[in-house]
Amino acid sequence: MSVVSDAVRAAVVARAGDRCEYCRLPTRGQVATFPVDHVRPRTAGGTDDPNNLALACPRCNGHKWAATDATDPDTGAVAPLFNPRADVWADHFAWSAAAPGQLVARTPIGRATVARLRMNDPTVVALRVLLADIGLFPEVTGGEDVEARRGADRPAAGGGAVSTSPSGPP
Ligand SMILES: [Zn+2]
Repeated sequence: MSVVSDAVRAAVVARAGDRCEYCRLPTRGQVATFPVDHVRPRTAGGTDDPNNLALACPRCNGHKWAATDATDPDTGAVAPLFNPRADVWADHFAWSAAAPGQLVARTPIGRATVARLRMNDPTVVALRVLLADIGLFPEVTGGEDVEARRGADRPAAGGGAVSTSPSGPP
């Protein structure tokens, strides 16, 4: 959990853009304070240096715990977890066009991280879609203009969801 100073915490939050640096969940609208994650855990020698800190939502932080790597479910090989200080989020993850609220892992790092941090658990996927509906997380549903959707009384946006799955899981 967070032991860094208020000033360091504020800098970490600002750098993260008020979002979990793993699953991108916005802090806005969340009751729980997002912990400051040690990318390299203190138990593994990680320090409080800002270059070892990241903002994480309570779910991602809790599932990551002291792990630095995890099994890629597609290959069975161990891969490092996503490192917000060294890796580019969009290189490893994308929002599914076919399944609103679902993360698509693009690399072994992405797959290992999604698996370890349980980033596609149904409860969190549902939360993302709910937040998108109120305009707080629009990118998870394809970045649609929320006001336009409201104005159109929310047409069935998921109608084509099952027909386009170019490289989805079996
Ligand atoms: Zn998260």
